[in-house]
Formats: sequence, C-alpha cells, structure tokens
Amino acid sequence: MLIIDPDKCNACGLCKTSCPFGAIAVEDEVAQVNELCTLCGACVNVCPQEALAIERRQASLEELSQYKGVFIWAECESFGGKKYSPKKVAYEILAKGRELADQLGEQLCAVVLGDDRLSGLDGLCYRGADRVLCCRHPLLGRYTSDGFTSVISAVIAKEKPSIFLYGATANGRDLAPRVAARMRLGLTADCTGLAIDDHGQLIQKRPAFGGNIMATIISPHTRPQTATVRPNVFNAVEPDRARPVSIADVQVTLNKANIRTRLIEEIRLESEAERIEEAQIIVSAGRGCQDPINLDVIRRLARKLGGVLAGSRAIVEAGWIPHSLQVGQSGTTVGPDLYIAIGISGAVQHVVGMSSSKTIIAINKDPDAPIFKIADLGIVGYAMAIVPKLIHEIELIKLR
Ligand SMILES: Cc1cc2nc3c(=O)[nH]c(=O)nc-3n(C[C@H](O)[C@H](O)[C@H](O)COP(=O)(O)OP(=O)(O)OC[C@H]3O[C@@H](n4cnc5c(N)ncnc54)[C@H](O)[C@@H]3O)c2cc1C
Repeated sequence: MLIIDPDKCNACGLCKTSCPFGAIAVEDEVAQVNELCTLCGACVNVCPQEALAIERRQASLEELSQYKGVFIWAECESFGGKKYSPKKVAYEILAKGRELADQLGEQLCAVVLGDDRLSGLDGLCYRGADRVLCCRHPLLGRYTSDGFTSVISAVIAKEKPSIFLYGATANGRDLAPRVAARMRLGLTADCTGLAIDDHGQLIQKRPAFGGNIMATIISPHTRPQTATVRPNVFNAVEPDRARPVSIADVQVTLNKANIRTRLIEEIRLESEAERIEEAQIIVSAGRGCQDPINLDVIRRLARKLGGVLAGSRAIVEAGWIPHSLQVGQSGTTVGPDLYIAIGISGAVQHVVGMSSSKTIIAINKDPDAPIFKIADLGIVGYAMAIVPKLIHEIELIKLR
C-alpha cells in the first residue's frame, strides 16, 4: 500500500500531478490516496519531502496454502446470436487444468460468464471440470473489460483458487492482466507449457526474448498463480458423459455505471490470424515453394480441400504472405485436423506452432528434412510437380 507521512507532506501537489491514475488528491493540507492507486511508484519518485513510500507485504506460506483449486475461465462465444457456449480453447485449458488439479489433488472448476443464452455447460464437466460456476447477468452477454474484470475478481476473492488460467484470446489477453493488476497477482502471458513442481507451485513456460529462450516462470508470493495459454497448444479431451455434472449459479452484482464502455456498432472483420487459428485444414507453404507466384497453386489446393493458406516465417520475411498467416513460435499456434507442409524444412520454431495437428502431411524434396520426423505421411519430391497432381486428383474424386 501507499503510505503518506502527514508530518513530512507539505501539500505541494507534485504527487497529484505525477499520478497517471488520478489516485491522489490534496485535502486538508495533506496528500490523500484513493482506491485507483496501482502502486506504480510515480508519486514516490517525485516527492521532494520523501513523504511517500510503498509498503509491499509478502504473504506468508500459511496464507498462500489457504488457496486451493485449479480454476479456468471458460470463455463463451455466441453461435448465430442465440446460444452462448464455451469456445474450443476453454476445453483445451480444461484438459491441462485437469492434469494439474490431479497432480495437486485439488478440484478443477470452470468459471463461465454470460447472459440467459448460456448453454452447453454440461460439456465442461464431461471434459474434466469437477464443477462449473455460472455467472449470469444481462450485462455479461457481451465481453466488457470492466464487467468481466469485476466478476472474475469477485469469484477469485471468494473462492481463493491456487491457480487461475485463461485462454490467450483477444478477450483473455485483455481480461487476465486487468484482474492481475486489480488483485495484485503475478501473471504469465502466452504460456506454451504448464506443470507442477515438487513444492506444488505452477511452472509456467513461455518463449522469451523473441523466442530465443524458453523462460520458466513461477509466482511464489501471490495466489492464485495466473497464466494465459495460447489456443491450440493443448489438446482437448473427448467428453466422458459418465462424469457427474455440477453447475452452480453465482450471484452477480453489476450495474451499468460500473461499465465504462458502450457498444455502438458491431462491424465484424474477418481476421486471417483468427482464420488459421480456428481452421480445420491448413495448407502451409515454405521457402521450398520457391516463388510467390506458386502460392496461387498452393492456395488453390487449400481451397479445394476447404482449408486455408498459411506459411513459415521464411516466406513471411520474404514478403510473400502477411505475418498474420505465419505458423510457429513467433506466429500463430494452430491445431487443425489436417496440416500439409509444402517446402517447409521443419525447424523447431515452426514445429512448436503446428505439432498438435491431428494429421501432418509433408512434401519436401529432401528425404532427410526434419519435417518428415513429425509427419504422418511424407511425399519426397518437388513441390510444384506434386501439388498440381494433388489438385487434379481431388477434382477427380469430387466428380465421382
Ligand atoms: C526466435 C525465432 C523465432 C522463429 N519463429 C518462427 C516461426 O514462428 N515460424 C517459422 O516458420 N519459423 C520461425 N523461425 C525461423 C525458423 O528457424 C526457420 O528459419 C524457418 O521456419 C524456415 O522456413 P522454411 O522451412 O520455409 O525454409 P527453409 O528452412 O529454407 O526450408 C525450405 C525447405 O524446402 C525444401 N525445398 C526446397 N526446394 C524445394 C522444392 N522445390 N520442393 C519441395 N521442397 C523443397 C528444402 O529441402 C527445405 O527443407 C524462427 C526463428 C527464430 C530464431
């Protein structure tokens, strides 16, 4: 907390002007701090009287041990404006959450926010959750930073989980840091690996320094330990309908005045990155495709299969495709049913972004290319000799 020493403060107001959050007022000849303070320290640095100090109290081991349970935010999306059901990424984190909860011997809980359209929540229990906390409110029918931050923070304050995970979706990347800042928690963004260490702490792994190292991060002093996880990093498990269903409604207190943003108009832009993240079939091109002109043929193959075009970093750097279509460590992580890698060597930074694909087919002229080590099916040969033949065969199959 921010401590202001009234004996030293001369009410000069420098702290008030330096505060980016409007958290300081000068009243009765002394500086006063309000709840908007984020402990950023800007005021402490400017005070000529050294009247301000930040006191950070470290939680004791006993306090930390009171936090139990692995929680995930099961983000929902609306289908045709009617149903509002969990996204694929919610099932992926649930699968990982189940493993972590089993290792800790604790419960796995999915937290769902939405309005009356919420449905399909049984599936969260069938895929691993011991219980679902359902936060329904007319103001939660659409994501808002203020509304969702308030509700998730309230759930954390009441339930005291030891771990809280979010999908690193656009909304998850907005929500997780807000909750972390409000509740003074540690947060690791974009994790690609999660595990439990011998002390029961969450080990969070993520690429750092432009992907040149894998960082291992722990949050030893705060609970819950919070992390966002990229979509398509973990595989969801098949539903087990024999699992018991436990869904509890949570009372939500929210009013319009708490939500500072207002939806005026919705314009849906089709994002290419979103398309490859969700695509079930991806045809991916690498430097071995030799010329950007050849991408027309690769794209045709993708379309014939009902899929989308993506590529390696080599062809993004060459300016053949935008970065939004790059698969890999510094691009998008994908997990389609079918991934066809054409003229891609299979560098580790590419493979981490697509190895969870269900079936991988590689076409490469080099029989020793590393991509063949992870491919289910390999074709050794020149890309532009093989791809047109594949297109022709697909056309023939479609005619039959
Ligand atoms: C920090 C960091 C982050 C990175 N992030 C990513 C990332 O997110 N995604 C990514 O893709 N890479 C990433 N990279 C780059 C990665 O290391 C590789 O350089 C890149 O994946 C290589 O792309 P490529 O396979 O298309 O090209 P190359 O490595 O040049 O491979 C071309 C392949 O095509 C084959 N070939 C050549 N001609 C033909 C032909 N006519 N027909 C068929 N096959 C042919 C060759 O045998 C070869 O195997 C990253 C690197 C670093 C250092």
